[in-house]
Amino acid sequence: MTIRTAAETCAQPKDSLDVIAAGLFRPMGVDGVYARTAIYEEVIERLACLISRQREPATEILRFPPVMSRRQLEKSGYLKSFPNLLGCVCALHGTEDEIRSAADRSETDGDWTASLAPADLVLSPAACYPVYPLAATRGPVPSDGLRFDVACDCFRREPSRHLDRLQSFRMREYVCIGSPSQVTSFREQWIKRAQRLAKELRLPHRIALASDPFFGRTGQVMAVSQLQQSLKFELLVPVRSEEEPTACMSFNYHLDHFGQVWGMRDEAGGIVHTGCIAFGMDRLAVALFCEHGLDVRRWPATVRATLSFG
Ligand code: 5GP
Ligand code: ZN
Repeated sequence: MTIRTAAETCAQPKDSLDVIAAGLFRPMGVDGVYARTAIYEEVIERLACLISRQREPATEILRFPPVMSRRQLEKSGYLKSFPNLLGCVCALHGTEDEIRSAADRSETDGDWTASLAPADLVLSPAACYPVYPLAATRGPVPSDGLRFDVACDCFRREPSRHLDRLQSFRMREYVCIGSPSQVTSFREQWIKRAQRLAKELRLPHRIALASDPFFGRTGQVMAVSQLQQSLKFELLVPVRSEEEPTACMSFNYHLDHFGQVWGMRDEAGGIVHTGCIAFGMDRLAVALFCEHGLDVRRWPATVRATLSFG
């Protein structure tokens, strides 16, 4: 694959997208999995600091590895909603002889993978899944609710040549666990803050009601229900085109789903509600380069100041 072929039309290109791709990424042999250049990583780090500066008080910070418990993700209901996107860790199990002969098949018929068996790990498809079982071990949720700041490298099996659709990407999230009114006001506050941030970064954007890409025919019903209940909003940026803008952040209300799954209760014994705000770090960085060009020294002064460039 060549990143060059990822080129699409940029909203207001200062550099074309293939120039942007060549400046930001290096190929690793698979679509949607790239090595990242120093300047790209610098922007990612500055964005992460900008998001940290918006953190609400009394928010617990946790950084997760790129893998999580398979059992926990199964219990969260992920396989009902997005079985097509999940990556499961597999390994060679058995005796030394069994593992040796399986591995050696890579040099003969090549089919060593037939001997793989699933491990107890999956690749995390979003940063917030591990936080709910963890919070559930803490006893009743206090009356002020709980706030978390989480992040991890995420995997979704969606090979694509578009720069804004990676198989491996970074996600940062703020999570709220509490009463319905705490979660809905948390989400409203964040929708406002996110718009202010996008404005400061001079990213053209709009907030839109959205649904997740639930799998299959039953998935369509789930998507309609999600829309009807206004459970998901996205901050859209026209990275590739105005017609197909890119979701760079999402604002999600899970009702009592995770509360029920993990038995999370308030002090009066009621099941709590949860919500999360997700920042697609790679999409935000790509959007910035797409909008302002490859040379960060020439980005608008206000954008540079927002990102604390010296
Ligand atoms: P969601 O859970 O709402 O689908 O994803 C949360 C955020 O992660 C999205 O708003 C987006 O910014 C980011 N994200 C989701 N899928 C991808 C992807 O395929 N590539 C990249 N770079 N970011 C993604
Ligand atoms: Zn989340």
